[in-house]
Parts: sequence; C-alpha cells; structure tokens
Amino acid sequence: MKVTIYCASSAQIHQKYFYATELLATTLAANKIKVVFGGGAEGLMGHLANTVVEQGGEIQGIMPHFMKEIEWAHPKVMDFIFTDTMSERKTLLYRDTDAIIALPGGTGTLEELFEVITLKRLGEFTRPIVILNTDNYYGPLQEMLERCVDEKFMNPQHLDMWSFVDHPSEVLPAIENMPDWSADALNYATLKQS
Ligand code: AMP
Repeated sequence: MKVTIYCASSAQIHQKYFYATELLATTLAANKIKVVFGGGAEGLMGHLANTVVEQGGEIQGIMPHFMKEIEWAHPKVMDFIFTDTMSERKTLLYRDTDAIIALPGGTGTLEELFEVITLKRLGEFTRPIVILNTDNYYGPLQEMLERCVDEKFMNPQHLDMWSFVDHPSEVLPAIENMPDWSADALNYATLKQS
C-alpha cells in the first residue's frame, strides 16, 4: 500500500502539528505503508520524512528540478522523482496512490488537496481522501465544504469524497471505511436545473 501526504513546508508552526505528523509517520512505517510526499526538508514535510526514515519505513519524494537546485530536497530521502514542472509533480503525487492524506498546511497543501477533491468530483480520481484536523485547524475548511453542499453548489453525495479525522490513529481506519467512489461520479458532478 502507498499513500500520498500533502503537508506544510513551514518550520514555524506549533509543536502539536509536528507531534501529530510524527504519530502518523510512525503508524505508516509500522504498517509498511509507503509514503509519497513533496520531498521538502523543512516543516511538516521534513519531520514526516525524518520520522519515516528513522522508523525504517519507505518514502519517496516528488519535486520539480528547480526546488532541488535551491536545495529544498530532503537529504535523507533516497528515492526521488524530479519533474520539469509543478503540475507534473502534482500529477505524479496523486497518480497510482492508494489514498491521499492532507495534514495541516498553507496554500501549497490546500491547492494540492482541492485539486484531488475536484478530480474526485469528476470521477478522475477515486481513492480515499483523509484530512487530519489536528486541533481543529481545518474546522473552517470543513464548514466551508459543508456550506458548498448546504447552498447547493455541490450535491450531498459529494460529502462522501473526503473524511475529516481529529487524531492520527483515525487516519488508517478512515481510509478503510471510506465509501467507494467511481468514474460514475461525473453523472452527478454538477447540479442541473430541475
Ligand atoms: P504549504 O502547505 O503552503 O507549505 O505548501 C507545501 C507545498 O509548497 C509543497 O508541496 C511545495 O509545493 C511547496 N513548498 C514550499 N516550500 C517548500 C520547501 N521548502 N520545500 C519543498 N516544497 C516547498
């Protein structure tokens, strides 16, 4: 099994986010689940990779060449794919993965997360998407997504596209229990005139 993790590059965030990342990384390594990530050495990305490597787990970084050139690539990660563009990087991050896990992050993480949610809505991506809501960091995002449905910008079925969990120990069960999703999602991707 292989999961993709989107997470923060910032090193200045509260320690609680590093702790949650460490717990998740330890669980993934213990379960022999390969981690694919953005390849960064700083912030939650850096801590994720350090922990997976320390625990003897498998990890792959995917990063555009220009980031490698400015030395953003994690030095302890041996398995790397370097891409020409950011969009190629994002495609490789979600293609062939068994699940997406979003940890707290800034616009980079949000962009990556929204891309896979949008592709899932169109049936182009069908795997589980789990959002780790450490200390309710993503509470406003959860409210916003639910508001999209309440105000009929999306269908109630779309609420099944993602799962918010509070604790790292809930991530793997959430992946396992995620409702099936298929390419048929395209049939109810938009709300038409009734
Ligand atoms: P953010 O959640 O805004 O910190 O963004 C995380 C994403 O930003 C990563 O996947 C990268 O696209 C990019 N990024 C920003 N800073 C770095 C860094 N120091 N190393 C690697 N990627 C970075």
